[in-house]
Amino acid sequence: MKVYKFGGASVRHAEGVRNLLNIVGDEKELFIIVSAMGKTTNALESVFDAMRKGDKAFCESKIEEIKAYHYTTIADLFGSEEYRIEEVDALFEALRKAVTTNEFERSRAEEWYDHIVAYGELISTTIVSKYLNKEGINNKWIDMRKCFHTQARHKDANVLIEQSATPLRLACAGAESRIFVGQGFIGSAPDGSTTTLGREGSDYSAAVVANILDAESMTVWKDVDGILNADPKIFPDAVKIDHFNYVDTIELAYSGAQIIHPKTIKPLQNKNIPLYVKPFGNKHAAGTEIDGKASTFNTPIIILKYNQSFLRLRSRDLSFVLEEKFPIIFATLERFRIKTNLIHNTAVALGLCVEESWHLEEAAAALQAEGFDTEIIEKVELMTICHYNDELFEKYADKCNFIIRQTTTDTVRIVKPI
Ligand code: ASP
Ligand code: MG
Repeated sequence: MKVYKFGGASVRHAEGVRNLLNIVGDEKELFIIVSAMGKTTNALESVFDAMRKGDKAFCESKIEEIKAYHYTTIADLFGSEEYRIEEVDALFEALRKAVTTNEFERSRAEEWYDHIVAYGELISTTIVSKYLNKEGINNKWIDMRKCFHTQARHKDANVLIEQSATPLRLACAGAESRIFVGQGFIGSAPDGSTTTLGREGSDYSAAVVANILDAESMTVWKDVDGILNADPKIFPDAVKIDHFNYVDTIELAYSGAQIIHPKTIKPLQNKNIPLYVKPFGNKHAAGTEIDGKASTFNTPIIILKYNQSFLRLRSRDLSFVLEEKFPIIFATLERFRIKTNLIHNTAVALGLCVEESWHLEEAAAALQAEGFDTEIIEKVELMTICHYNDELFEKYADKCNFIIRQTTTDTVRIVKPI
């Protein structure tokens, strides 16, 4: 069994879905994980935002727009403007009902978010599965919410691999065809509610499938040649790296490299399954290979992580912010689901670069109650340069207006205002 993952950009239009068919080719044992088409998750996030604000008219019109976008693709794939997919209509109707008939409860924001954005993957996989069937590739559509049992942690759940193994294997057992199509990004919590695995989490879904089914390999098909040493949109001299090992990849992904979701590597490493990142437009290209072998590269790598905030804490009574205080601080951040990306400590202060969050103010208030003065700086970014050289250091780290700069012999990390 191989696992292929196709991201939203790859299936953003009919041509992309036809290319998916071409990549699947004559594979006989394949689990295909698909993300929501194009920018659908962002569009669904705006539906959710409007729901929070009680703007039902916007919700309805946005849902119509998303539906029209998907039907443009369907019309092209199935050759008729009139062509209707019953399941897709039912999904749009369920989505419309969910956002227009329910009152929003702030305390359940994450749960509602998950419920709404999950439709993107449910719809995309339905279309892809039907299209592959029409083209003679018989396949089984798998509802990943029934297979992936996750933590009760909405918006950023981890899959409980042991609990998910049997349901996933059962879903695949006895199927007529050994080609499966399942949604990335989604699962369900112990109470049965839908969970999502974090933005761009479909890579992680594919890795968990690969782990459970003991796949021979996993391939992520992307709109780039492989893993590059920087984002080519910002750094035009970016070059492809042929081979990475698991540890370097996880570190880079954690630093914000957009190429692979950081949670993807562990399930693969645990079963020693190689990961290939290949260009969607050229199925025979080598791409980048990621496995457990020692890496040899020392090309500088530049990564920008956006949507960050900076939180500064200082103990009011000048007690040291060390061992005793760490558990309180991090338990509070965990309670508000705030993710930390960089830590900088002094005797009585702690600086944290964290993911933007709806709950940062609340977390700061809770920390004030624990005896800290707090300061929040919004709209910052985290830049990481691995294998930096003098030229890069001078250009990006030396002269910039930073809040924190951490330097080791190999890596420099800078938190700076946007
Ligand atoms: N559709 C989700 C997102 O855009 C998951 C993914 O693409 O991996 O975040
Ligand atoms: Mg996506």
